[in-house]
Amino acid sequence: MRLSKRLAAVSALALCAVALQGQGQAQAQARQQPPAGAFGGAPIMHTIKEGKVYWALSGAVVGYVIGDTGVIMIDNGWPQASGAIKSVTNKPITTVIETHDDTDHINGLYNTPNADKLKIIAMEDNWKQQWTSFKWTEKPKATCPQSPMPPAPNVIIRQPRVETTIDGVKFVLHHFGPSHTGHDLIIELPEYKVAFIGDVVFDADLFPDHPGLPAQDHGMFWKSEKRGTPRGMFHNVDELLKLDVTTFIGGHGNNALTKADLRTKRDLIKADYEKQAAMVRGGMSLEDLRKAVGDDKYGARGGCIAYVDLPWYVYTETKRDMQELKNKGTVK
Ligand SMILES: [Zn+2]
Repeated sequence: MRLSKRLAAVSALALCAVALQGQGQAQAQARQQPPAGAFGGAPIMHTIKEGKVYWALSGAVVGYVIGDTGVIMIDNGWPQASGAIKSVTNKPITTVIETHDDTDHINGLYNTPNADKLKIIAMEDNWKQQWTSFKWTEKPKATCPQSPMPPAPNVIIRQPRVETTIDGVKFVLHHFGPSHTGHDLIIELPEYKVAFIGDVVFDADLFPDHPGLPAQDHGMFWKSEKRGTPRGMFHNVDELLKLDVTTFIGGHGNNALTKADLRTKRDLIKADYEKQAAMVRGGMSLEDLRKAVGDDKYGARGGCIAYVDLPWYVYTETKRDMQELKNKGTVK
């Protein structure tokens, strides 16, 4: 855990450094290669089932499933990701399943042998997002570098649940609605009672020295510009708890999570959400809400990663609900 925090800190500092570079220099660099800040340090390999299922963390988590003839990766976020499994098998990488489109989860595709021949599986909204938005950042190109387009998904998921067998291994792919983004994909391996859950729940503060996330965010954040929402996370956790799964691998962290871990994290954030929603219903402004929960002491965070804090979601979503109720005539 210590090590993972340190790697995350290195990664966050690198993000910061990229943000501070002169824009011309940063853009020239970005045209040639993905920004270095998207990646962490040397990966640590974890085993779920010897010879079958592994995962490793280097900034973001990557999963490896050894099929009959090749390797199926779950996310592919860093340059060494596709090579790291060579210590286990000589089978080639054939498939990548993306939990979501954030660059720290897909930028290793640049460095994967035969990248143009890979089967790349993703939610439709993920695929659209990759074509329509800036990669690396949603902030203006003028202030943040943009990474080149990685190989695009070519197997598009449109259903909320897909049961399939890939190279002899059973998979169930679930979309439980928006959470970290609008297109989070949960990858369940029923034979191993394991699920890779991307950034729906993760247990590492990605910005520990940067200067850290507000306490009520509990080390997590959601991508508003990709239609993520903490409310969706509450629902996603409800659905994850129903699965016949014992081991959950989040998108950032060296510890596998249990159902109890998911529940605890969700309950902490939900309690804060509900407390703040009551304040908004009582007429509090966003500015006052941030002051009331101590959020005002945190400055701009995340460098070139755009994200907003929990009070922003609570305020925006509660206000929207109040307006909807009013429009329906339920509330005068
Ligand atoms: Zn992530």
